[in-house]
Amino acid sequence: MQNEEAFYRLLSAPKKCAIITHFKPDADAMGSSLGWALFLEKRGHEVAVITPSEYPDFLAWLPGNEKTTAVKNEETKEKAIRLIKAADIIFCLDFSALQRIHELGKYVAEAKGIKAVIDHHLEPENFGDYLLSDVKSASTAGLIYDLIGKCGGKDLLDADIAACLYAGLMADTGGFRHSNTRSREFEMAAELVNRGANPHFISKQILENNSLERIRFTGFVLKDKLTVLPEFRTAYIALSADEAKQYKAATGDSEGLVNYGLSVKGIVLSALFFDRKDEIKLSFRSLGSFSVNDLARKYFDGGGHANAAGGLSHASLDETLQKFLSILPAFRDELNKINI
Ligand code: 5GP
Ligand code: MN
Repeated sequence: MQNEEAFYRLLSAPKKCAIITHFKPDADAMGSSLGWALFLEKRGHEVAVITPSEYPDFLAWLPGNEKTTAVKNEETKEKAIRLIKAADIIFCLDFSALQRIHELGKYVAEAKGIKAVIDHHLEPENFGDYLLSDVKSASTAGLIYDLIGKCGGKDLLDADIAACLYAGLMADTGGFRHSNTRSREFEMAAELVNRGANPHFISKQILENNSLERIRFTGFVLKDKLTVLPEFRTAYIALSADEAKQYKAATGDSEGLVNYGLSVKGIVLSALFFDRKDEIKLSFRSLGSFSVNDLARKYFDGGGHANAAGGLSHASLDETLQKFLSILPAFRDELNKINI
């Protein structure tokens, strides 16, 4: 971070803080935001957490959850805008492109408060006053862990903060399995467990806490919707809004589906196309040197990490899928060369 000293000075007196994270927040988005919120409160700041959409039930147990204003209707949207306008400091966590907070992006851009972006995604946009970006860090929660240390706040890192940060760290490394997992992630995990985070409880809440509907939905997707294209070492799933409705899929129920494609032997690229009615949400995963960040950025208005990225499309589900299929031949050689 540039001007690190000025940033710490800023936090040396009580401030009105708003922490905002990305649309449809995942465990790292919520865990890093709530962990940072709990820490700032202990330091005497006034803190509100804002999410631009609802978030899955399996994250509602996170300590500090009650501080969250989730935008779900006009009333909560107005409240979120009020909080953004009133803040002395706006922390943007786990995203670094304003597009990722949808309608709220405009209000954050116009807000008079100081903006600090803390994120680990590739190619961050420079829309803040402070940017703490580390693309090698597996999670934003890990960045918050280090930041708490740098602020001289290690002593305040209690079991609740530890649980929030562990949740983000565990989820964004896929349970310490993805290629972003360094020894540093294990060191932080060990320290967070020493501070009171319970690994079994947290992974049970996030990974093994399915409604029966979600399991049935997953079964349907794996049986009927997962398509494999061996010549491109690619798997994809395209889900319509009707299918999601038929299986009563709730927010978060499609999370992780894209990983099944990548778990098929020989597959190095997996895509999920999910019709959210007003837009198509895309998720990409890859192995080795194939960058889905590049793919998502170039063709689907998105981005993320080299091996995990997402994007959006405003064309129909079928048109979006056709676009993807038409791009694949250009990558045939590259996909077939991937060594893992
Ligand atoms: P997921 O597929 O789990 O939604 O996202 C994979 C990764 O890409 C996550 O790190 C996520 O934050 C990022 N990502 C997802 N959607 C978008 C998007 O529309 N734009 C950008 N820049 N990143 C995204
Ligand atoms: Mn993250």
